[in-house]
Amino acid sequence: MAIVQPVETSNGHRRLRVASPATKEVIGEIPVTNLDEVKAAVERARAAQKKWAARSIDERARIMYRAVDILSKKQEQYIGVIMRETGRSHFETVMMEIFPALDSLTYYAKTAKAALADERPGLHLLKVKKLLINYKPLGVIGIITPWNGPFILSLNPTVQALMGGNAVIVKPSEVTPFSGAMVAELFREAGLPEDVLQIVPGDGETGAALVQSGVDKISFTGSVATGRKVGEACGKNLVPCTLELGGKDAMIVCADADLERAAGGAVFGAFFNNGQVCVSTERVYVVESVAEEFTRRVLEKVRALRAGAVGEYDVGPMIWPRQIDTVERHIDEAVKSGATLLCGGKRNRTLGELFYEPTVLVDVTHDMAVMRDETFGPILPIVRVKDEDEAIRLANDSRYGLSGTVWSKDEAKAIAIARRLDTGSVCINDSSLSYGVLEAPFGGRRESGVGQVNGALGVRNFCFAQPIVIDRVAPKEEHVWYPYTADKEKVLQRIIRWVWGTPIGRWMS
Ligand code: NAD
Repeated sequence: MAIVQPVETSNGHRRLRVASPATKEVIGEIPVTNLDEVKAAVERARAAQKKWAARSIDERARIMYRAVDILSKKQEQYIGVIMRETGRSHFETVMMEIFPALDSLTYYAKTAKAALADERPGLHLLKVKKLLINYKPLGVIGIITPWNGPFILSLNPTVQALMGGNAVIVKPSEVTPFSGAMVAELFREAGLPEDVLQIVPGDGETGAALVQSGVDKISFTGSVATGRKVGEACGKNLVPCTLELGGKDAMIVCADADLERAAGGAVFGAFFNNGQVCVSTERVYVVESVAEEFTRRVLEKVRALRAGAVGEYDVGPMIWPRQIDTVERHIDEAVKSGATLLCGGKRNRTLGELFYEPTVLVDVTHDMAVMRDETFGPILPIVRVKDEDEAIRLANDSRYGLSGTVWSKDEAKAIAIARRLDTGSVCINDSSLSYGVLEAPFGGRRESGVGQVNGALGVRNFCFAQPIVIDRVAPKEEHVWYPYTADKEKVLQRIIRWVWGTPIGRWMS
């Protein structure tokens, strides 16, 4: 049985039934919100946004802090819903969803005021004027999210947009709609005024409707294929968007790496959330001299992973059945072309259809799909390289550019390697951390995305920087106003000669 199935309806209004990937037990049904309903939600949001924007940032922050209290106290309720929809372990749900959600709420409650404070930069030339930069909310933001981090990936952009004074409409993934919907429940309980945050459940039809509904910005997180469609539709409607898309993150293990830590990082980076993480480790380049020892330690750790669906376990089921098809295709093709399986490579049917064994591959080549396309599953291909230069060349030879990791005891060397990677971010001696470091702007290069989220920049990106130019002194008229005369131009030319033709003028300009 598919995890998401259409339900027969008599009124022509589509509905979907959602089941647990671990037990196949039905979790519930959602309506597919259509274009008219999405437009009506945008209208309501537009009316509510005006009042929300009129509230001070301190008032907005108080609602975030209330949400922190509620989420901390009721976390088991939230964890239960997420676990049911994703099949993830309790620990991983706390680590990937609850902990970062509490951090996001608190961080932006604390920092948005400074990020959005008026700026008054001094002017380099027009000393008789002053400049004030005012960060204005954009209005109504459409947030479209995937299933792999269903609560946090809906909550984190929402917090940033709300702190910026916007109203928000979230379209969670149809695979995990109830986890996404909990973001609105949390804020309702925290006292957010009605219609400032709304959920529009549904599938791609609803996502496409949201893009066309007249919102002022789209914040999209998902696959490259859908991101392209969203980007095209936004371009056509001249709606600004950020696109947080897929990746094929490389891990570079230098000869001087702490191999025990690097092996632990590789296993965590590749297998947490079953590799269904945009910044998961999808390929490893290890310098020849340490490759054998590194691989031995990796295997030891992979064999110790506990698969399961109840009690204490490390890896659960894949969340979305179609993803397991990609995993099988990548492994089959690699093995047929000469790759060697060191472990895994098959489903764990004793646990269920969607359980896949953590897989380590060697003897892979750069042209295989497993090395070039996003797998988004539990596969760790390890490649031996002659030196770090070869590792950097192979890592950069990708259509993706989301994140990457470098492992070395020499920080200066690792930073030098990081600077040469064409990726949105890099972690040194750690895995998959960049989205969780809220000060760090997060985004992808090439097909991994457009624009950045998080940090001060993230909040500002949900606003418009409106410059207001003000007179310092108030002359009756300006030299450049009508009428244009030869005498006025002479003065202009004198200014040009002085400003750009003399050392003191250049220094002052
Ligand atoms: P997806 O692109 O299939 O779906 C994402 C969302 O888009 C869903 O809510 C879906 O209903 C909606 N959608 C589908 N068609 C649409 C359309 N035509 N217009 C508008 N919306 C539409 O992605 P997914 O399978 O849910 O998520 C997995 C992908 O997300 C992976 O590629 C992963 O790397 C990426 N991802 C990226 C980040 C990041 O921050 N860069 C984070 C998490 C996941």
